[in-house]
Amino acid sequence: MARVALVTGATRGIGAATAVALKRAGYKVIANYHGNEEVAAKFASEHDIAVSKFDVSNFAACQQHVKELEATHGPVEILVNNAGISRDATLHKMTYEQWDEVIRTNLSSLFNMCKAVIDGMRARGFGRIINIGSINGESGQYGLTNYSAAKAGVHGFTKALALESAAKGITVNTIAPGYISTDLLAGVSPEVMEKLVAKIPVGRLGHSDEIARCVLFLADDNAGLITGSCLSANGGMHMY
Ligand code: NDP
Repeated sequence: MARVALVTGATRGIGAATAVALKRAGYKVIANYHGNEEVAAKFASEHDIAVSKFDVSNFAACQQHVKELEATHGPVEILVNNAGISRDATLHKMTYEQWDEVIRTNLSSLFNMCKAVIDGMRARGFGRIINIGSINGESGQYGLTNYSAAKAGVHGFTKALALESAAKGITVNTIAPGYISTDLLAGVSPEVMEKLVAKIPVGRLGHSDEIARCVLFLADDNAGLITGSCLSANGGMHMY
């Protein structure tokens, strides 16, 4: 029977490409989203993928929705923690709300979602948890103390949970994308974008499909030897 894959933030950008790639590879996919109903409805009908609206930063909502989804679709065996936001400002201008929203959405969400699936994965002796980090969690970035802290936290979370889960057939890994052409970069000015691209050794932005390929690789039943790892998919930026 097809394994069930739940991808958070999956009706746009990297998550959408990942959900579609997993479906093509034979998984039964559920795509979570937060607020953009119109985009979610279009995604669901275009790709025939089940969508589920809830806020990954809300612990109770995650527990409730995952329970309901599992009752309908079967146990979640692949969890891709992809949902993420940015609220950029230098620290002296950053509000507490900007800090808190990013930490809750990009980091606390991993706790919320993993708590909802980990007992089942442990009981069944199989699981694949794939967390989407960022080059900016590895290197830090100007104006992104909130985002860089959250994404650095993703790396630590991944390694600790990988250690706790290794004997139970569950792998936990991070993918750290570089700059990928999605809505998340929509607010970056052309001048800043030009400077960013100049720093990418391959000389271009990444595509969502290129991150989806990494997820497929780590989600595979045969990827059981890879855990606690970080796969850098950033056109070589991590070498700076
Ligand atoms: P997009 O902005 O294109 O899409 C974000 C998705 O996350 C949307 O589906 C959105 O739902 C969902 N989302 C946002 N907040 C929540 C929430 N609280 N609960 C549930 N879903 C939520 O983002 P990207 O595809 O660019 O980014 C995906 C991941 O990759 C993020 O974790 C990001 O940090 C990371 N990343 C992205 C890079 C890039 O250059 N694009 C670089 C490195 C890492 P809705 O449509 O309903 O708003």
